[in-house]
Amino acid sequence: MKYNEHRNWKELAETYWESSDEQDALEVTNPANQQLIAKIKNFGYRDCKSSIDRAHAALASWRDRTAYDRSRLMKKWFSLVKERRNDLAMIMTMEQGKPLSEAKGEITYSSSFIRWFAEEGIRAYGETIPAPAASSRFVTIRQSVGVVAAITPWNFPSAMITRKLAPALAAGCTVVVKPSEETPLSALALASLAEEAGIPKGVVNVVTPTDPEEFSKAVFEDSEVRKISFTGSIPVGKKLMAAAAKTVKKISLELGGNAPFIVFEDADIKRAVSGLMTAKFRNNGQACIAANRIFLHESIYGEFMELFEKKVRELKVGPGMESQSDLGPLINKAACKKASEMVEEALEKGARLRYRGQQEADGSLFYPPVILENCTEEMRVFKEEIFGPVAAVSSFKDGRRVIEQANDTQSGLAAYFYSRDISRCWICAEELEYGMVGVNSGFISDASAPFGGIKESGIGREGSRYGLEEYMEIKYMSFGGIKK
Ligand code: NAD
Repeated sequence: MKYNEHRNWKELAETYWESSDEQDALEVTNPANQQLIAKIKNFGYRDCKSSIDRAHAALASWRDRTAYDRSRLMKKWFSLVKERRNDLAMIMTMEQGKPLSEAKGEITYSSSFIRWFAEEGIRAYGETIPAPAASSRFVTIRQSVGVVAAITPWNFPSAMITRKLAPALAAGCTVVVKPSEETPLSALALASLAEEAGIPKGVVNVVTPTDPEEFSKAVFEDSEVRKISFTGSIPVGKKLMAAAAKTVKKISLELGGNAPFIVFEDADIKRAVSGLMTAKFRNNGQACIAANRIFLHESIYGEFMELFEKKVRELKVGPGMESQSDLGPLINKAACKKASEMVEEALEKGARLRYRGQQEADGSLFYPPVILENCTEEMRVFKEEIFGPVAAVSSFKDGRRVIEQANDTQSGLAAYFYSRDISRCWICAEELEYGMVGVNSGFISDASAPFGGIKESGIGREGSRYGLEEYMEIKYMSFGGIKK
């Protein structure tokens, strides 16, 4: 039967997940109106353990297939995700809140990891190494690490999953994914399409506990789970890293950021404003690589801010299902409280309110875009990840000093700057202590690029050929006694 693009919520629920009537079911709500949209199974410790056992049972046959065979199945999965983009985007908007057009964009981005790693998996080369003795031969091969536990956040409910699942599957690993409690439906839909594509049962498993510790307990007591891949906050990442030490699991951490966005005096102002709109307001500021601290050279400050304010004033806040909305709701009450507390604290400490959009009634999760000027290092908006549509701006005179200010944080995920001077572009990119630097660009994510941070922003890279290596071990073989 041909796939029907125009489906209602009931049909989506029947296609992609099983509803639960249990008392303790995990309840999923729509942040736009805070209404219940689904009740699904709450995975306790034993359920999590069973899912891990299923991943163990499926490992040998998945790992022993040829990389070409895995690639073929992954390409089918990619085609299905592409075909069902509308379904998947609607599910995402309903549970996460982002505008439908952005959700569609995320599904395209998310599917690109499946295709990219389906292609890269067949290039998981080993190497030959010149040996010191005539009777020796040294070679390396790369093998799957084994069973993987993946834990993901709510801000990109689909892409954060395929960024882990696709390289893991391509490498021959089986995976148990624990999505965020806020956005489990996108994960279940992706897994259901993997199964429809012919990826064998047990290779992709999704667990949905209301208490994430039920999963981590099962993972950390199992010495055969060989790898943890986590995307989320720095405190939880540190906790998982400590727990992984017990059985020395391989670990990747994609944690929070505090991105500087610097505009030098020789920048293309229009381009820089447009870059900042993307880097600040994509996903309503709820991105680990969102511009957090904005530094503008004093000589272009006035011109930049005039144009920036004009663009921010044009942003429409509203439900993601309405086509005119640019910014959806924040994810929950805690996120709204955090954003308003940060703004109030900054104002108390001397920041100037340049613009605040229309505020909604108390209790709504819609938070207006805000522009603060005169921000300083003493304020939370500069010290912490804002994770909301608040632009915290300051001006600078000295191009050397601003790099020191930008580096004055324990985070090291993404940084951005704008300049037309080629020497400055090189030096500044080299001196910024970040895993990723956008040079005259406010958008840096791509399946082909190594995404990841340094310092407390994480360990390892996702995407690119380095992303595949995270799910493989190198085995070195030394052949001796070779005679002519
Ligand atoms: P979070 O750390 O609260 O939760 C992330 C995931 O960890 C969720 O699935 C949650 O259920 C789970 N979790 C929490 N405690 C756990 C425990 N004890 N054991 C096992 N799992 C546990 O983060 P969040 O609020 O969902 O996401 C926002 C954070 O994620 C931000 O800090 C953001 O910067 C970061 N993030 C980073 C990247 C990146 O690539 N570096 C990408 C997206 C988001």
